[in-house]
Amino acid sequence: MNIIAIMSDVSAYFKEEPLRELHEELERQGFRIAYPKDRADLLKLIENNARLCGVIFDWDKYNLELCEEISQLNKILPIYAFANSYSTLDVTMNDLRLNVRFFEYALGTSGDIATKIRQSTDDYIDTLLPPLTKALFKYVKEEKYTFCTPGHMGGTAFEKSPAGSLFFDFFGENTMRADISISVSELGSLLDHSGPHKEAEEYIARTFNAERSYIVTNGTSTANKIVGMYSSPAGSTLLIDRNCHKSLTHLLMMSNVVPVYLRPTRNAYGILGGIPKEEFTRASIEEKVKNTPNATWPVHAVITNSTYDGLFYNTDYIKQTLDVKSIHFDSAWVPYTNFHPIYAGKSGMSGERVPGKVIYETQSTHKLLAAFSQASMIHVKGDINERTFNEAYMMHTTTSPHYGIVASTETAAAMMKGNAGKRLIYGSIDRAIRFRKEIRRLRAESDGWFFDVWQPDNIDEVACWPLNPRNEWHGFSKIDNDHMYLDPIKVTILTPGMSPMGTLEDTGIPASIVSKYLDEHGIIVEKTGPYNLLFLFSIGIDKTKALSLLRALTDFKRVYDLNLRVKNVLPSLYQEAPEFYKDVRIQDLAQGIHALVKHHNLPDLMYRAFDVLPQMVMTPHDAFQEEVRGNAHECPLDDLIGKVNANMILPYPPGVPVIMPGEMLTEESRPVLSFLQMLCEIGAHYPGFETDIHGVYRDDDGKYVVSVLNDGGA
Ligand SMILES: *Cc1c(COP(=O)(O)O)cnc(C)c1O
Repeated sequence: MNIIAIMSDVSAYFKEEPLRELHEELERQGFRIAYPKDRADLLKLIENNARLCGVIFDWDKYNLELCEEISQLNKILPIYAFANSYSTLDVTMNDLRLNVRFFEYALGTSGDIATKIRQSTDDYIDTLLPPLTKALFKYVKEEKYTFCTPGHMGGTAFEKSPAGSLFFDFFGENTMRADISISVSELGSLLDHSGPHKEAEEYIARTFNAERSYIVTNGTSTANKIVGMYSSPAGSTLLIDRNCHKSLTHLLMMSNVVPVYLRPTRNAYGILGGIPKEEFTRASIEEKVKNTPNATWPVHAVITNSTYDGLFYNTDYIKQTLDVKSIHFDSAWVPYTNFHPIYAGKSGMSGERVPGKVIYETQSTHKLLAAFSQASMIHVKGDINERTFNEAYMMHTTTSPHYGIVASTETAAAMMKGNAGKRLIYGSIDRAIRFRKEIRRLRAESDGWFFDVWQPDNIDEVACWPLNPRNEWHGFSKIDNDHMYLDPIKVTILTPGMSPMGTLEDTGIPASIVSKYLDEHGIIVEKTGPYNLLFLFSIGIDKTKALSLLRALTDFKRVYDLNLRVKNVLPSLYQEAPEFYKDVRIQDLAQGIHALVKHHNLPDLMYRAFDVLPQMVMTPHDAFQEEVRGNAHECPLDDLIGKVNANMILPYPPGVPVIMPGEMLTEESRPVLSFLQMLCEIGAHYPGFETDIHGVYRDDDGKYVVSVLNDGGA
């Protein structure tokens, strides 16, 4: 952080000379100097260069208006104004609120001025750094000798070995030196929430509009378990989104609770539409409780918000309607909702406390903000017993947290603070909307087919666009008014082959082929459905990346229309089975898979598979206990009807469990089996297109098997 911009007024020699002196002095002190051409150039420089730490300009020429403009971009950036003895300095108190310091043009004062700039720069850096990160940097700078863990000792142990030094050189010195032991008392403790760690959590809570926040270093997978363990004691009933992440299924296996499921809808694309309004009502829950063995009125509820595909709920409605003591919004996908007004009323922490209820929100900071993998946060609004909560927290937390992850979680918050953070999110939304419009434009101009975007026809308004029953674009046959909203940042691209309501066309391009093509060109897709691809426009996606994606999509169209050979278009796929793909062309491959999808009527089958729930014979907890007692065995997938599952079964996509541990498929829920069989069969036809199904394994003969409980779980 060492770049200073100087707006020099070249027309006056008496100004130029002192500035030249200052330039030299600043360089001696390690600053780099940039000379923007004009006001617009300067503002662009500030916007695009986060390492800029000061602006020097001529007061006669630029004045307060420029200060205001700079402040719009970065409120705390130090500004230095040069005035001469004749300048009018009619600054008011309000102007002084801006970060301006005044210097006079004079020769021989550059040393003094540079020292003051150095001090202001240090103050600026000090303001930017959040508390724990600051303490960590300071500690590392002091280079203390430690005789505790970690055993690599700030990296020195690595440097004693050839393999170790390669590792050291790759990750760099500071990564090593900042990886320190929990025994360093001046940094406080993550597990006790003390010292700078406590300050970090308070800083995060303020930034994310929470009353209390916790840093979790093992992902939202762990954050979810912590909240669940605290909120639902053994024997209680838990209301849970059937569209839940597997960490929550694991919670159900760990904790002896009875799950009652909230049932989301689904469209033909395989996109989850969220839980209908009605499911949150007392009548609906009463009915479910009545039909679930050992269930009582639920104490706690868990809802995925937003869904994987970017659908938000009207959370105000849920908070008001759901009659439970606490509500947990699993918001792993959307750690940014507090930083743009379009998400107001659609997230756990938005709005005030709800009397008599505790609201939790868990977020994977690493997924869409800038933080290391595993960085996660729990936010709380409402009264909890902090001591008891912390037992659940510690139960799941390592006693040797990685401080790099902790500091990155806090830094993600620091990045989001104030107008600089808002600007990042505004930028992401803007880029996503432009990209969406660009796809639509190319589609309109294209001869023949082109990709489409899953969105309303009119996206001119910067908003989370509502899904409502009047429109067809979303493909949901049942949808409530004012209930679900599409996040502009989550861009679902549609490939040809299927209409929104699930009618399969004669020809089509399964999305998995496009996904493989993009992979060949260095673009990794977040999720691939049958005829849709999901892209996340996080704050790291800049114009260049968005353009490369557009280019790759248009390139795909070209090679597809030219009907090139798989060997040339998808060399990695070809390598997997050269004999099989020898004479196959890209259109043959697409039509081959499309025909299989059509033959099995995938959209309909998928719809029906998720429309019925298997029968719950025992809770996931009891089923897992049976499994660890050794009362489970392998069973061919085809023979699954009438057996009680030991593990969850979860196909990707959509990555949501279709069978929970302790559940049994019956004749009524046979579509679930047919759906799994179809996934396996499509995979078996085309090498490289095998479906990934968690909980289904291939035995040595290539047969699909699952783990079921002995004697039907009896
Ligand atoms: C990814 C995800 C999680 C788990 O988060 P990690 O940070 O990867 O542990 C939990 N819930 C949902 C909905 C997710 O998508």
